[in-house]
Amino acid sequence: MSWPSIMRLELFSVQLPYKETFTIATGSSTSSWNLVVKAVLEDGTIGWGEGSPSYSVLGETRELVVSSATRLAEVLVSNGCNCMEQLYEFCSRSPSPSAAAAVEMSVLDAWAKSTGMSLGKLLGGPCRDYIETDVTIGIMEPEEQAVRALKYVEEGFRVIKLKLGVDPEEDVERVKAVRDAVGGDVKIRVDANQGWSVETAIQVINKIANYDVEYVEQPTRWDDLQGLNRIRKESSLPIAVDESVKKHSDVFKIARAEAADIINIKVMKSGGLLGGLRVAHASEAAGLTNMIGCMGEGRLGITGAVFLASSSLNIKYYDLDSDILLASDYAFNGSTVDKGRRSVPREPGLGVDVDESKLVKLATIKLA
Ligand SMILES: [Mg+2]
Repeated sequence: MSWPSIMRLELFSVQLPYKETFTIATGSSTSSWNLVVKAVLEDGTIGWGEGSPSYSVLGETRELVVSSATRLAEVLVSNGCNCMEQLYEFCSRSPSPSAAAAVEMSVLDAWAKSTGMSLGKLLGGPCRDYIETDVTIGIMEPEEQAVRALKYVEEGFRVIKLKLGVDPEEDVERVKAVRDAVGGDVKIRVDANQGWSVETAIQVINKIANYDVEYVEQPTRWDDLQGLNRIRKESSLPIAVDESVKKHSDVFKIARAEAADIINIKVMKSGGLLGGLRVAHASEAAGLTNMIGCMGEGRLGITGAVFLASSSLNIKYYDLDSDILLASDYAFNGSTVDKGRRSVPREPGLGVDVDESKLVKLATIKLA
């Protein structure tokens, strides 16, 4: 069976403001600029996808994202793409993985809807009814992080992700303050976003290990695999890598260097959901487990990631919270959040509704 051909792809942009300034080791942001794609199939079915670019991790400028999405859309429409493997192949060649992610998600949403199945089914799942996400607290004074953490725990979240990586002594204080505030039943994981040297990382990790930390994400530079190996050997907590792995081919570099225990999949790094599944498969083959994270996606993009998370049993840790941190969104329904539990929608496709009036039209790509 082949899928209905793609007749038209429409590109939009949207600026999504955060509830408060979000600070990590590499900088601060107040909003997320995202690409939104609408796919229209030959049978009239409509699908939606979202891409949230990263300049610091992926080198993506807005110009690169828009030009890459336009080029990819032209290729898909002119080729009459109607096969998942071909869709992956075209998307994997895009110079902008988040542009590819947006285009791919819109097509997969439409294909799933055209048969009435959820996107999770299309991806081989879903094998979970819900996933339990963490909620991320950006870098701020230790006492402030503790206040935020307690507020989230009172809302029902049971996993807190703390951003660290600026000041080693304060980083230890941050973890202690949050642990003291939330008590022993809440999981704490941390992300240094490459902020520590190898020596600093070893020292900090061995101190924060006293406060029952689940794992440490990207303690040092993405390309220092020897350093990551040393941190892993000389510290007492599991190490996850995020910036070090973009695509499935990066997984084996990590495995060979014994540089991590956990690999963070992001749909925006892997160029889409099908690329993300390949990262999960490569990780499983290499004996590594996965977490799944996000960039600045709203409800639309996050729902895509939730379907990926619920369709691979090798993905065991969930950091899908960017829509929770937004002040407003153009997309609704899809994967909702209740006390840290994200639903896995059962509606056709992504199950997300989009308010098109909140989007800025960039281009329409259709057969001439
Ligand atoms: Mg990270």
